[in-house]
Amino acid sequence: MISKYKKILVVGGGVGGLVVAAALGKSGFEVDLVESKSEWGVPGVGLIQPTNALAALDKIGAAEECLQRGFAYSEYRWFNADGSLIRAAPGPQIAEFPAYNGIKRGDLHEILLASAKRAGANIMLGTRVTSLATLDDHVELSLSNGKESSYDLVIGADGIYSETRSRLFGEQSTRFTGQSAWRVNLPRPNDITWGAMVVGNHKKAGLIPLSAESMYLLLVTEEEGNPYMPPSELDRLLRERLAGFGGIIQDLKEHIVTPESVVYRPMEVVMLPLPWHSGRTVLIGDAAHASTPHLGQGAAMAIEDAVVLADVIAQNLPWQETISQFMRRRYARVNLIQSASMQLGEYEQGRCPDLDVFKLMSDVKIEATNPI
Ligand SMILES: Cc1cc2nc3c(=O)[nH]c(=O)nc-3n(C[C@H](O)[C@H](O)[C@H](O)COP(=O)(O)OP(=O)(O)OC[C@H]3O[C@@H](n4cnc5c(N)ncnc54)[C@H](O)[C@@H]3O)c2cc1C
Repeated sequence: MISKYKKILVVGGGVGGLVVAAALGKSGFEVDLVESKSEWGVPGVGLIQPTNALAALDKIGAAEECLQRGFAYSEYRWFNADGSLIRAAPGPQIAEFPAYNGIKRGDLHEILLASAKRAGANIMLGTRVTSLATLDDHVELSLSNGKESSYDLVIGADGIYSETRSRLFGEQSTRFTGQSAWRVNLPRPNDITWGAMVVGNHKKAGLIPLSAESMYLLLVTEEEGNPYMPPSELDRLLRERLAGFGGIIQDLKEHIVTPESVVYRPMEVVMLPLPWHSGRTVLIGDAAHASTPHLGQGAAMAIEDAVVLADVIAQNLPWQETISQFMRRRYARVNLIQSASMQLGEYEQGRCPDLDVFKLMSDVKIEATNPI
């Protein structure tokens, strides 16, 4: 059978872009991928992979290696700021996959890049799209390396500040939610074999195991007006904000001594209204629906988008049917994750005090184990 979508361009070599390139390459499509960075360098310290992310990664054969290189755990333990336990919350599982796997972002990137290359994707670093005309049956574009090409399909996986999104729909700015995340990698004490969340006064700290040797400490703070944080002072600013936490969080403060080890990110969101495509160009991952990290599901959603899109493209249906199926399988799920994540952020900022947060988290996590 001759495919309608033989030649495909993926814009962005992050989580979603590499997974869709790997999945399409495996199914025999000719895939080019452009990444604007001229060298791979993955920001961020670690990532939580919930069970649904692992199940989706298994479709491209990458789950096993994530589990080998990461640290699987089954539950979160919630504590008060003084270190007293509130409750343990085991996570749901899909099949043999653990409820959670913590992994260094760099390790995940290496695994996904190798999968995309193995599947035959042609990766062009330091390259971006400079013009794009998205038509009903193909896309014409030029690249910053001077090439002009025609593709049957373009997939915009270029993240929260997506240029592809701006090209298709005009400027769609991100919205700051009032909170920021601070993260730092630290050695893992032997007894941290679960995720920890520690509830402070208008802030939340956490510990996520990442490997046999390492974990990351996270802190979520309110940062009114989204102030600039000088990179050279991030360690001091983080230590200051950890005041008020007792127990292990207090003990870890003294290990945060270099500003470059601290990754600071204001929490921003984007929710593109339907449809996430114009002509033959479609958006996936943060480009379409960047969420806050309260449920640790953003990359999981990008991975699922990638796997589902590759699946519907491989069915070789007319484009309108392909895109309708994709939206039908993705929109409600992504919307649920994003709205629940934002509700949790609102709760943490004192704006919906009656919310039953443990019930909400549990319900959404169970919902996320449904097939995609
Ligand atoms: C503080 C924080 C913590 C998080 N923790 C978790 C977590 O624990 N678990 C989880 O599942 N998710 C988490 N997330 C969310 C997760 O990081 C994102 O949802 C995920 O990375 C989105 O993947 P993506 O492929 O859409 O975009 P990205 O991974 O951002 O990739 C986009 C890629 O496109 C490239 N690019 C950008 N512009 C262009 C261009 N014009 N041309 C070509 N290439 C371009 C970029 O360089 C990048 O490589 C967290 C997010 C934050 C902010």
